[in-house]
Amino acid sequence: MYHTIAEVKKANKAIGHKWFSPANMRFFKTHIVKGHYSGRLIQSRFFITSDDVWGLGRRYIIRAALDNGAVETASETKFMSWQVAEEIAKKLKTESSPCANCRKSTYNPNFTCDDCAGDARLASSDW
Ligand SMILES: [Zn+2]
Repeated sequence: MYHTIAEVKKANKAIGHKWFSPANMRFFKTHIVKGHYSGRLIQSRFFITSDDVWGLGRRYIIRAALDNGAVETASETKFMSWQVAEEIAKKLKTESSPCANCRKSTYNPNFTCDDCAGDARLASSDW
């Protein structure tokens, strides 16, 4: 378990991954969003990046820092604002589980991945 993005960067590098390497960050035009958490992880698990998504422009994506130092995308949803991404990240489960419908890994508390939940997810009272 990590508390800060700095710890995650170090752990990711230690296992030989290059998620945070300058070349990778440049290629995807990725920025780490400090937001209200200013460099700390949300629920000791998540952080938000701002990425230049091809064809969409800049979007905000929730990433999960795994205990082994790897980083994965926690939600396929690309958010319009970091504030919304942060609010959602606060409500995710800290461990992923298979989607009830398609078995793809998800952190959503209702066990349905974003692709299967669609836009209804954001309007749902579960959130
Ligand atoms: Zn699914």
